[in-house]
Amino acid sequence: MLRIILKAFLGTLLLGVMGLSISFTIRWALGKPFSAFAMGMNMFMPLVTTLPFAVLFFWEHEKLRRMHADLTAAHAKLRAHSSIDPLTGALMREAFFEQMATAREGGRPGAMMIIDADHFKSINDTYGHTAGDEALKLLSNAIRRQVRKNDIFGRVGGEEFGVFLPETSTEEALLIAERIRTSVQSVHFEARPNVVRKLTVSVGLTGARAIQTRSELFAAADACLYAAKNSGRNRVVMREPFVLQAEYN
Ligand code: GH3
Ligand code: MG
Ligand code: MG
Repeated sequence: MLRIILKAFLGTLLLGVMGLSISFTIRWALGKPFSAFAMGMNMFMPLVTTLPFAVLFFWEHEKLRRMHADLTAAHAKLRAHSSIDPLTGALMREAFFEQMATAREGGRPGAMMIIDADHFKSINDTYGHTAGDEALKLLSNAIRRQVRKNDIFGRVGGEEFGVFLPETSTEEALLIAERIRTSVQSVHFEARPNVVRKLTVSVGLTGARAIQTRSELFAAADACLYAAKNSGRNRVVMREPFVLQAEYN
């Protein structure tokens, strides 16, 4: 409140000084004598008449400023909530692609991977959908532990995740993809009491070139994923410069 009164007082004072200068200039131009009383009134009147309105103005202005800040914060919170997948905590598909587009702005390079859970349907079919959901959570936690702070991680399909690694070479990305694969493999998933089921993922990995559109990039990573599935699953396949097809398990 004190700040508002001070601002209003300073504003009014400025107004008084402006009025005084104008009056002073006119009197000087017309060759009229200066009256200390008139000058004093020029300063005093605005203080009396304008100050209450100035206080009201700054008070309302402050209220509006606070409301605007609250709305901006609420909007940011809502946006963050609506872009996070509630089951896995990963970004939702559209938010993932939006953030990836931002990271690629100006043709900045990177690498992209699509990670798909292997034989996930059989988990649902054998142990039920709730167990499947639990497996998805464990799986996404295992992936999240391996991605770095600036990497973008999202759920792009039912049991399919995307990771975009900004400013990362395919060789570096391959190491991370391998870490993800082994980390998922070592997840302890108890599908039923005393029944442990192994979880595995297949990963399609590709370098992101500046000229590639989002769908071209996705298609390239998807083609690698397809190759990983077809060559036995639980593996990483990378497009150029070489394809990793070593046997795991
Ligand atoms: P592949 O190794 O070829 O990927 O086999 P898959 O069984 O994983 O692939 P498929 O596309 O046949 O099945 C995917 C399954 O993932 C089917 C679907 O019910 C399940 N799924 C997708 N989203 C969810 C989910 O949110 N929760 C659960 N529990 N299951 C899900
Ligand atoms: Mg699958
Ligand atoms: Mg799938």
